[in-house]
Amino acid sequence: MVYHQAVWDEPLLAELHSKGKIGITLPSYKQIDDSRAESLVPKKLLRKDVKLPSLSQPEVVRHFTKLSQMNFGVDLGPYFLGSCTMKHNPKVSERIASNQNFSELHPYQDEDSIQGILQIFYELSEMLAEITGTSRVSLAPAAGAHGEFVGALIIRKRLQELGQLKERNEMLIPDSAHGTNPATASMAGFRVVRIPSDKEGLVDVEALKKVVSKKTAGIMLTVPNTHGFFEKNIREICSTVKEAGGFTYYDGANLNAILGKARPGDMSFDIVHLNLHKTFATPHGGGGPGAGPVGVKEHLADYLPIPLIKKGKKYSFDYNRPKSIGRIKNFYGNSGLLLRAYVYIRMFGKEGLPKIAEQSVLAANYLLAKIKGEDYIPSHKTKAPVKHEFVVSVKNLTASTGVRAGDVAKALLDEGLHAPTTYFPLTVEEDLMIEPTDSEPLSSLDRYAEVLKKIAETARKDASQIFASPKNTAVGRLDEVKANHPLTLTLNWNKLVK
Ligand SMILES: *Cc1c(COP(=O)(O)O)cnc(C)c1O
Repeated sequence: MVYHQAVWDEPLLAELHSKGKIGITLPSYKQIDDSRAESLVPKKLLRKDVKLPSLSQPEVVRHFTKLSQMNFGVDLGPYFLGSCTMKHNPKVSERIASNQNFSELHPYQDEDSIQGILQIFYELSEMLAEITGTSRVSLAPAAGAHGEFVGALIIRKRLQELGQLKERNEMLIPDSAHGTNPATASMAGFRVVRIPSDKEGLVDVEALKKVVSKKTAGIMLTVPNTHGFFEKNIREICSTVKEAGGFTYYDGANLNAILGKARPGDMSFDIVHLNLHKTFATPHGGGGPGAGPVGVKEHLADYLPIPLIKKGKKYSFDYNRPKSIGRIKNFYGNSGLLLRAYVYIRMFGKEGLPKIAEQSVLAANYLLAKIKGEDYIPSHKTKAPVKHEFVVSVKNLTASTGVRAGDVAKALLDEGLHAPTTYFPLTVEEDLMIEPTDSEPLSSLDRYAEVLKKIAETARKDASQIFASPKNTAVGRLDEVKANHPLTLTLNWNKLVK
């Protein structure tokens, strides 16, 4: 993709400002009935003048259109950002979520006037319980990490009730876990005990057995793990922890790998969280809003956050849950995401959902088979297929040419392909974590593989070409120090409007 040259140095709106230009004419302050506003807002807070840039309408339209072209998104090209599931999301979910009848509901409306959305929340939580094999699901958590935090707090509360919190303060977390797992466990007050991976990139069960003890509060298992593998010893891992009195937590952010094929609840997990903004529509990325529902088995249901949605004669918020860990978010969940997920699940249905798993796993294995070799070395020597994503190392390329994983990522940008996740997981050197997703056509998998091969060839012939990329993007290589330095970062445009 080659961007229009004019996009490169797009000035700020404030820099385009020149006095006297008019984009649209608003009714004058005196024309609108201002008496109400004046009586409602204290005088000292009423603004007389707002310093906004003056611009014509075409200038504004062009400005924002250009900015939109500087961005890369799933609607523009392949976006194989490992661990983030940047797939195509059906536009119908977007339309329904932005329907005014949903988007303009107010959280303070009384329950009788929001029965529709409450029914959707209720049914969604039931569907997610079925999908995960758990008994009850809270839709409140606002992100995957937030769901993990809720899960860890539930374990904490249960241990407290059992009078075991003092002794059981260790959370076992494999080194192939997602980075949020140790963070949330320690935020919830646990000491994190790291479990190493074995040669196949799976939890080292012998090492696990050595550290399991009376101090074990539980284990948080990312499945598939960040090497892209399904933990085939999952039953042994769970029973080891449970026999020692600990709880089992399934990080199901990437449920797309097993969706409709297997259920964490059936694998004897007590708690599961999902990222709706990965598996069930809603693009993930840019730190946008999320939804990380948490499902638990019956014995932990009382501890879920308040409120839950109750179904009686009508749907209502249930606050009468004395054992609950409490409120973890204002109001109830990010409704736009919950709606998108609801539509997505209803649309695919029981027959369609497993195809998402099949397609994402097939795409990842196909792409890995096409690129693996000297330059792109699979993270582990194993016959096991990967799940929805995989990790390769470019360490050979780095040793012979100096080209690092980050350089390969930059070179991909020049071809209109989004970079994969780089330098994660931390267990593999110079790694790329690639997730082609379930929605990518075969032609783009082939092209991605070809481009990766070309980059390796170019690196061997003339590495300086790779170091010079990206050349075709709106912004070239950033001076990362400068970009973060407070003295060089100007965020105040106000002075520009005169
Ligand atoms: C993305 C992800 C998370 C964290 O989700 P956020 O919504 O970004 O907080 C946790 N675990 C795994 C395995 C993930 O892929």
